[in-house]
Amino acid sequence: MYHRFDPNQYHPTGWLARQLRIQADGLSGNLDKIWPDIRDSAWIGGNRDGWERVPYWLDGFIPLAYLLRDDDLIARAKKYIDGILDRQCEDGWICPCTSEQRKDYDVWAYQLVGKVLALWCEFNPEDTRAADGLRRAMRCLYDNMKDGTVKLKDWGKFRWFESLISISYLYEMQPEDWLIDLAKLQRAQGADYTALTERWVRPLNIWTLETHVVNLCMMIKYGALVKALLGEDAVTEADDPETMWRALFDYNGTAVGTVTGDECLAGQRNTYGTELCSIAELMYSYEEIYAATGENVWADRLEKAAFNALPAAISADMWTHQYDQQVNQIACQKYPNKPIFRTNNGESGLFGLEPGFGCCTANFNQAWPKLAMNVLLKAGERDVTVAHLLPTLLTTEIDGVAVTIETVTEYPFRHTATIKVRAESPVRFALRVRVPAWAKSAKMTGAVRLSDFLVMDREWCGECETAVTLSDRPHLVSRPNGNFAAEYGPLVFALPIEAEYKMLEYTRDGVERKFPYCDYELTPKSEWRYGFVGGRLAVVEAEGDDYPFGESAPRIMLKASMARVDWDFEDGYSNVSAQLPKSRSALSAAEEKILIPYGATMLRVTEMVKVK
Ligand SMILES: [Zn+2]
Repeated sequence: MYHRFDPNQYHPTGWLARQLRIQADGLSGNLDKIWPDIRDSAWIGGNRDGWERVPYWLDGFIPLAYLLRDDDLIARAKKYIDGILDRQCEDGWICPCTSEQRKDYDVWAYQLVGKVLALWCEFNPEDTRAADGLRRAMRCLYDNMKDGTVKLKDWGKFRWFESLISISYLYEMQPEDWLIDLAKLQRAQGADYTALTERWVRPLNIWTLETHVVNLCMMIKYGALVKALLGEDAVTEADDPETMWRALFDYNGTAVGTVTGDECLAGQRNTYGTELCSIAELMYSYEEIYAATGENVWADRLEKAAFNALPAAISADMWTHQYDQQVNQIACQKYPNKPIFRTNNGESGLFGLEPGFGCCTANFNQAWPKLAMNVLLKAGERDVTVAHLLPTLLTTEIDGVAVTIETVTEYPFRHTATIKVRAESPVRFALRVRVPAWAKSAKMTGAVRLSDFLVMDREWCGECETAVTLSDRPHLVSRPNGNFAAEYGPLVFALPIEAEYKMLEYTRDGVERKFPYCDYELTPKSEWRYGFVGGRLAVVEAEGDDYPFGESAPRIMLKASMARVDWDFEDGYSNVSAQLPKSRSALSAAEEKILIPYGATMLRVTEMVKVK
């Protein structure tokens, strides 16, 4: 349905560019200097991790480097791509293991590095060595699967569809029948998710690949990928992304557009965790599904996860992150006894370098850069669709004419934008702006509303400017168990809790944690036991500071009338709030409290009752 523009044509601007710069100056842009699993990885000849971590990191580091046009980052990405290609075997095998180890190697990393090489090739279409290396790698995987040397198992079996990204890329470059056969082989040996949906209804307290939240957030897109590559007849309604999404979200959905999974599906409780990898993968799935189907609901879902859950799990300076975030998160401490998380350890809620486990350290890097590559899309040669109203400059060519489209906006912190179009000579195309489902009204000067889009289909020449205004009223949405959460536009708002930070610097298993990438424990210092009084909320706009999702200077807030309630800890814990207060009666007079964007909070309560 949609195609992306050449990725080198996107120039993030405004707060989005600033967010990417923060990421580059934080952990993402420094992992190859400080983290042994990247710095000394077997992928480049070292003795540390030779599996998913380097490809995970590159999947975000490559677009980060190119979108920022940062020569130093680009050179460091190239060093890794060259290092991987230098070590490719004669027969095309691309992963760091011996030929004897191949039969035991979990090819999830193979599927993943294929996706990364395809991404590199998109930014570097002139790099024939990488394109040839990718084709030879996938041909080798095909040969090894065909003769039975390699069989999908474990992660590779549950993430088989990730290989369709590189297969589709290669097929588009040069269609060859074996690519289709490889896709079919992967699917035949891969997990059949249509047979697993019953297990997501009442998740058990055990770790399984079938209920693993990252697998499932990756999985949602497989139907769209299969249909695009293998055709309509290759899928049924059971494979449809919407069918899969419902099966997951109806029973495990959170207030911020994610599913609970710590790290396997956990059901609808606001204190169970959501693993950061699952948020990054959910966003990527939504981007792929939206591009494939053109159904606006996927772009709405993407924004909810991107503007709320993603920034909440990562500190404002992007040096530390959590493994598991909680919607109601009144503390981030080590658990002395059994953690609230069902299948994760007691450190998973801390902010740090690799709390819980190191996958997210490598994988969260893709989230912001990939979003920035999906801001504008095209439905045809004479179409520019503003999928997300985010600050970006696109420089492209339409019918041989140089065209730039610049969106100037503070969205999602404001609901207005100016779109500037410049065409070097007269050229006709449609400029379409997606209208989010939450918008009570949507206007664009000179545009007509066609379904869920504002459209200007005309001849463009010279410079033109148009103003977009979306409107919403802040409101409470109903959550399970009689709780409510505040929303305004695509943002969810939470009551922030002041925190005392305890810095933990130490070395474990040869991995050093020291400022600014040490661990932090957060202890609550302010009252959190509140409920909403009535449903009236008032918007407060502010200037903010250099950190778009910083807690100290939020760019937008809501004023709410609230009162104290009798709300205790969860049974057996002193750092986890109960699902509900003991009573809905007010314990104090109503007072005015300030709610801030969920994505900007560290400690918070998000789901609260309405008091009587
Ligand atoms: Zn992870």
